[in-house]
Amino acid sequence: MPDLIPHYIAGQRDPGAPDAPRGNVFNPATGEVAAEVAIAGRGEIERAVSAARTAQPAWAAVNPQRRARVMMRAAQLITDRIDSVARALSHEHGKMLDDARAEIQRGIEVCEFVAGAPHLLKGEFTAGAGRDIDMYSMRQPVGVGVGITPFNFPAMIPLWMAPPAIVCGNAFILKPPDRVPSVPLLLAELFAEAGLPAGIFSVINGRSATAEGLIDHPDVDAVSFVGSTPVARKVYARAASLGKRVQAFGGAKNHLVVLPDADIDAAVDGLVGAAYGSAGERCMSVSVAVPVGKEIADRLANALRHRVEALRVGPYTDETAEFGPLVSPEAKRRVLELVETGVAAGAELIVDGRDTRLQGHERGFFVGPCLFDRVTADMEIYRTEIFGPVLSIVRAGDFHEAVQLASGHEYGNGVSIYTRDGATARAFADRVAAGMVGINVPIPVPLAYYGFGGWKASAFGDLNQHGTDSIRFWTRTKTVTARWQSQAGTEFSMPQLR
Ligand code: NAD
Repeated sequence: MPDLIPHYIAGQRDPGAPDAPRGNVFNPATGEVAAEVAIAGRGEIERAVSAARTAQPAWAAVNPQRRARVMMRAAQLITDRIDSVARALSHEHGKMLDDARAEIQRGIEVCEFVAGAPHLLKGEFTAGAGRDIDMYSMRQPVGVGVGITPFNFPAMIPLWMAPPAIVCGNAFILKPPDRVPSVPLLLAELFAEAGLPAGIFSVINGRSATAEGLIDHPDVDAVSFVGSTPVARKVYARAASLGKRVQAFGGAKNHLVVLPDADIDAAVDGLVGAAYGSAGERCMSVSVAVPVGKEIADRLANALRHRVEALRVGPYTDETAEFGPLVSPEAKRRVLELVETGVAAGAELIVDGRDTRLQGHERGFFVGPCLFDRVTADMEIYRTEIFGPVLSIVRAGDFHEAVQLASGHEYGNGVSIYTRDGATARAFADRVAAGMVGINVPIPVPLAYYGFGGWKASAFGDLNQHGTDSIRFWTRTKTVTARWQSQAGTEFSMPQLR
């Protein structure tokens, strides 16, 4: 019998109801079932929400400095255990160990950022806003928050959400994807070890029905979602219709524009890592290269072909491999079908990784690197987020066309430009319609003290993940007008401060 990965409710591991359904958790490198995960139903949801509701007021009453100290301790504990957490992550996700460590590190940085909570949570104050009148605002927790996360960053994305939610005085319930459930459980336990009271950070495993049950629960006040765009749209509409605070981040199709004056070696280095790292299963992966002008397009296609042909695919235990398998058999099937549509539409598949086989890992979910040239904007491989190791070259005639192409795509998460011309780079950053822009940087993921978020179909809602936006998302503002005077008098007109 494979091990059962439980929920984490009210400060303890909770296997859920004995007759509850279970999901398979794979080792994507071998295709074997590595464990089973408990799928939560009404009972587990009720227990987690009730524990959160009960624990939240006392946690909110703990002063911000003490709440921040828990984050500092959590950051240290996660740092101390980074190797074992990374191993658990790679085993279920398939990404390389260095990549797993890097995502955990990004998450730790959010804990470090929110350790500034005493400062971040300060309100505003105006002394003497009128005669004998002071006005001030304060930030109060929203209450009980839910985080629904995707499979591709099992540590980083829960850590985008949990630390700001919790440091602001909320209780937080995480619903990770059923494919990679071990790391969220470990994180909740490390936060408990850091001093978090029971009920403030719970983890409920499950799929869409569990997520919907949490969103709909009347005692849940806020929902933070990261995943695919169709689900992000649904979650945003569902939570908003119930009057809840919601932010929902979706898919992407990130372009990297290469101008004729670019350092082509740097552009090729940037493209190869950003397109094929983590098998392309990143919302900030570059999936479209846009060389501007025929000469640079031919040089880029040629240089990329040589580099991409030489990429090494392998299990996370192979230190010489550059990327690993896809997360599931369904993900592999979907990527191969999309590559097929590109071939059928007439794009040139100049590196074909479809038949990649690894000795000893024949049942793993590997797809080798694929590189398409002469892709056009009407093709499905251009319009759809592939989420696999597939890079498309779309040739642009001039700078304006490149900006229009990236800006006209349905998604607007990240975009980059490679050039030596500062004025052109500046114009690009100003004009392009995307939330995160790189200049000679292929994956422009902002650091924890800036916000992460895309535009258009890549994000629904107003406030980004981490940065000061996260403090706004996880708090409500209350504004107080106070008069300390014995005789106020009666006023019948709209109050004015004199
Ligand atoms: P997904 O949308 O299939 O699932 C995400 C989460 O939503 C999972 O926890 C899943 O169980 C849950 N879910 C599924 N149906 C639901 C429903 N009807 N209501 C509520 N929750 C539901 O995404 P995935 O395949 O796990 O992740 C890959 C996607 O996530 C890609 O599209 C990628 O671009 C995107 N992503 C976006 C960002 C970003 O910041 N914009 C970051 C990482 C990943």
